[in-house]
Amino acid sequence: MNELKHLGKGTRAVHAGVEPDPSTGAIMTPIFQTSTYVQEAVGVHKGWEYSRSHNPTRAALESAFAELENGKYGLAFASGLAAIDAVLKTLKPGDEVIAGQDLYGGTARLFRTNHAPMGIVFHFVDTQKPELVESAITDKTKLVWLESPTNPLMQITDIAAVAKITKPRGIWLAVDNTFASPMLQRPLEHGADIVMHSVTKYLGGHSDVVMGALITEDEQIDAQLRTIQNNCGAIAQPFDSFLVLRGLKTLHLRIERHCQNGRKIAHWLQSHPKIGKVYWPGFETHPGHEVAKKQMDDFGGMIAFEIHGNNLEQAKKLVASTQLFALAESLGGVESLIEHPAAMTHASVPAEIRAQLGISDGFIRISVGVEDADDLIADLEQAISIAVQ
Ligand SMILES: *Cc1c(COP(=O)(O)O)cnc(C)c1O
Repeated sequence: MNELKHLGKGTRAVHAGVEPDPSTGAIMTPIFQTSTYVQEAVGVHKGWEYSRSHNPTRAALESAFAELENGKYGLAFASGLAAIDAVLKTLKPGDEVIAGQDLYGGTARLFRTNHAPMGIVFHFVDTQKPELVESAITDKTKLVWLESPTNPLMQITDIAAVAKITKPRGIWLAVDNTFASPMLQRPLEHGADIVMHSVTKYLGGHSDVVMGALITEDEQIDAQLRTIQNNCGAIAQPFDSFLVLRGLKTLHLRIERHCQNGRKIAHWLQSHPKIGKVYWPGFETHPGHEVAKKQMDDFGGMIAFEIHGNNLEQAKKLVASTQLFALAESLGGVESLIEHPAAMTHASVPAEIRAQLGISDGFIRISVGVEDADDLIADLEQAISIAVQ
């Protein structure tokens, strides 16, 4: 199945990357749980030599990633952070990176504690304002790294506007597309050079795999990243690749339901007397709404909200009182999750910076799953009534 580009997103999700197995006709890509491949004579083989370099199950998944992001080349890594690390390894000491200021905590930690000491210089800016990206550029800038929507504030960056700044200067633009998934946003179409995913989240979708992905349409970029993947070895394993191939087949259905449920719950929260501000890019009042409408197909199932009064104890009680929403870090699975960023995912961010960003003590993040929206709303209602008197 080579040419899928003209087909709908759902058809592509079902068929991306997979062909019947040529030796048996098996419709599902087999799990090639093998480290090596027998050669007929020295250098005479079927295209497969050693599974760090290539593995047929991983290769099927990698081409599925490329297909879904409308790119040409995909790579699957052991985790999202391993994928980010691979991009940063293309840089040399003295090179500069402009990074979004509201990033996944682990990404900022990797930049600060591992790459900065190796001589890479980071400038963290508010990428919601592309002019701030432009003014941070020097002749050493090699990479712009951003997320849209961001975690947990759901901030939106105009990808095309940033690409307009980076492209003519030969600076790579990498977009972490984890929150949107390719069903809602395909950054390469807006001028990004590299798309990254924590596959752990929506692409895997079933909370059973940790994996990362990089996708590009540029042969030179792919060649560099592929060399790093092989040299450094942080590859995705065959069984995990199989699980994600399986997950991708329902990505369009899952995302559709995440969006439907997200929309209902965001509006319900917004009208709730005990709830303050609700962060969801689908609201017309959201500062990034117009850009989100332009570059996304829908607004997703990630929502953050504050309880009125921003009381820490009430927030902690609320997240511990839900029955269907599981209290856990991570996101993007079929089951709904709830968490308290100030005490959990963003605890390493100093309190005053959290306050500056808007992550208050009463701030709660939910990943809306694919259950029935009415059940999820009833669950939140009972938890709010227990926590907020
Ligand atoms: C989880 C996450 C990551 C890190 O991915 P892992 O698979 O956990 O290594 C990076 N970016 C975003 C937006 C994430 O949510």
